Amino acid sequence: MKRYLLFIFLIFLLMLSLGCANEKTTDSDGKIVVYATISPQKEMIEAVGGDKINVNIIVPEGGDPHTADLKPSQLADLSKAKIYVMVGSGIEFEVKSMDKIKDLNKNMIIVDSSKGIELIEIGAHQDEGDHVDGEGGKDPHIWTSLRNGKIMVQNIYEGLIAVDPNNKEYYLKNRDDYLEKLDEADNYIINELKDMDNRSFMIFHPSWGYFAKDYGLSQIAIEVEGKEPTLQSLAHTIEEAKEENIKVIFVSPGFSSKAAEIITKEIGGKTEVLDPLAENYIENLKITANKIKNQ
Ligand SMILES: [Zn+2]
Repeated sequence: MKRYLLFIFLIFLLMLSLGCANEKTTDSDGKIVVYATISPQKEMIEAVGGDKINVNIIVPEGGDPHTADLKPSQLADLSKAKIYVMVGSGIEFEVKSMDKIKDLNKNMIIVDSSKGIELIEIGAHQDEGDHVDGEGGKDPHIWTSLRNGKIMVQNIYEGLIAVDPNNKEYYLKNRDDYLEKLDEADNYIINELKDMDNRSFMIFHPSWGYFAKDYGLSQIAIEVEGKEPTLQSLAHTIEEAKEENIKVIFVSPGFSSKAAEIITKEIGGKTEVLDPLAENYIENLKITANKIKNQ
């Protein structure tokens, strides 16, 4: 009987220690562990969270959120996270993996950074009945707009103060400082692009729809529903590039497309890289503006 009681007591101790482990919400250095999906979110989250947090990104710079999968090491680490910041706009990785992530760590707060952002149609470029489209449906690349970025930052702030209300003032000041930087960058780009004559740009994967919308530009996608275009669609795109006097075909980094090469050759132009997933969020949008301006 005594041994039986001892056994119960040991089980009780074990459960207690497991319970404590589950409630572990900070890293070994005492910082709040935050997870997010893509690199541009890192700058936003670090800007608000400052030295109170550690940010981990699931799909690193150079990765592809359309095809990425969870790695086993990430599965283990996610159980330590206190907050997961979703992009929330329907990018494939999140559609595929969020349920799994939520199951892994039921105490984790999930922030939907797209809350309050109006999604637009992807590659909403149509003419002559030929529907040149991207992945079909809503455009998930919300972060390519600095104005959407401001809403994302507000959602991140609300997530952080829910987890760590004691540092509300700290997060509030950080948020406001970063929102000011976003406004400055927005004004810089408005000014850079205001006198552009040719406001169309051609790109393989249509990830800059929100950027184009903010600054009155027209994004022409080469890709059709996430794939290389058909010959017929390609011929049409070449014609269009000539009509619009396009000399640069934009592509994502590390990406090669036969269609982009063919068009470049046909129009006597060149390809240039635009990176929708760069880690230096604000700086990268300014660089993008300059590349489009100087195309
Ligand atoms: Zn994309």
